Amino acid sequence: MPPSHSPKRLLLLSGKLGYQTRSFAEAARRLGADVLFGTDRCHRLDDPWGDGAIPLDFGEPDSAAEAIVRAAAETPVDAVLALGDRPVPAAARAARRLGLAFHSVEAVENCRTKLRQREAFRAAGLPVPDFFVFRLDEPPEEVAERAMFPCVLKPLALAASQGVIRADNPAEFREAARRIRALVESPPVQVERRGELDRLLVERYIPGREVAVEGLVSGGRVRVLAIFDKPDPLEGPFFEETIYVTPSRLPREAQDAIRACSEGAIAALGLTHGPVHAEFRWNERGPWILEIQPRPIGGLCSRALRFGPERIGLEELLARHALGLPGADWEREGAASGVMMIPVPRSGIFERVEGLEDALATPAVEEIEITARRHDPVLAWPEGSSYLGFIFARGGEPAGVEQALRAAHAKLRFVFSAELPVEHPAAPR
Ligand code: ADP
Ligand code: CA
Repeated sequence: MPPSHSPKRLLLLSGKLGYQTRSFAEAARRLGADVLFGTDRCHRLDDPWGDGAIPLDFGEPDSAAEAIVRAAAETPVDAVLALGDRPVPAAARAARRLGLAFHSVEAVENCRTKLRQREAFRAAGLPVPDFFVFRLDEPPEEVAERAMFPCVLKPLALAASQGVIRADNPAEFREAARRIRALVESPPVQVERRGELDRLLVERYIPGREVAVEGLVSGGRVRVLAIFDKPDPLEGPFFEETIYVTPSRLPREAQDAIRACSEGAIAALGLTHGPVHAEFRWNERGPWILEIQPRPIGGLCSRALRFGPERIGLEELLARHALGLPGADWEREGAASGVMMIPVPRSGIFERVEGLEDALATPAVEEIEITARRHDPVLAWPEGSSYLGFIFARGGEPAGVEQALRAAHAKLRFVFSAELPVEHPAAPR
């Protein structure tokens, strides 16, 4: 049992001190709880909320957990939440040692690579596409011989569809492998030290409609908080996301099957306590799990979700769940809600956006947040992994929300000052 003290204190582990971390901190404060931060970006942290953060190296989860346990001896914590992928292994280890409820260390390890997930799902009898892995130093011509088409190539441990490429034939396969190799060997990816980047996963392309599931696991049982449709086709060759709209317009039986598949996937991985974010495809053969991660939806997208009579945000719901406070079982509000992750039309130096006021005046649009800053170099997918910003719409039916997001986006013009040479050599055609 953690030592008792009051008020309660939430340990927030985050690799990025952005909006989401701030929202969690604010949610905890509203609940009368203290927050202890742990981050591996301390050199960039100027104590933004007046709380000293524990300096951690999330790339070394065992020593990070050790540092957390030492800090918690001075400043006891009652609950832990991890934001983003990087801090999760450290969070699980620290939670185990401190006796706090969190996904188990083993489950978190099962989630760490896409290969490990695929193996766990297949072993549990869940529907998975055929797949294999190859090392980047294998000759791509030979590997392309083994591939089944159409297929998708992806790094084992990146996120946000970065480096995920569809190939329909051996020539596209070779080109995709070359392009992903250049990406994973580039300094911005290397500096993250994610490991497992010397191999690529190849899996058969699954046609169908795609959804994202936001869930909350307690004692190994999942409560589905929202199913988001992704109404854009997402047929590749690159898989930059755009629109998420909830509630889903899939038929009831499809949604039930996706819920059941979420339960199966969570059991297969052994996830036990805390948020999960999963992605599925749905076609005439049923639901197919793409992946599941032991963390909440990222970026600003959580703003699309509000719960209960007080219309609390996802962050507050998760903080209540972690701290064992009432309200963690509140349902999502009735209105349809959606977010558009604003796509990057091309790689370049971002200058400004025009038409913002006009776009904001679109009925049902509540908020537009441009997250790219003036003079930021931005990369289009598949090398890129961050959006220009986010558009939020709410109210009425899902179709109207989708329409509002598209209408607002059509009024925005993004101005770039220069071409940015993408860091991959010219394609050998
Ligand atoms: P990431 O963790 O980078 O988001 P995913 O495995 O979730 O990687 O893949 C990103 C996107 O690529 C998915 O959301 C989906 O649109 C597409 N995708 C990935 N694998 C497949 C597949 N086997 N069949 C069809 N589409 C896929
Ligand atoms: Ca994904």
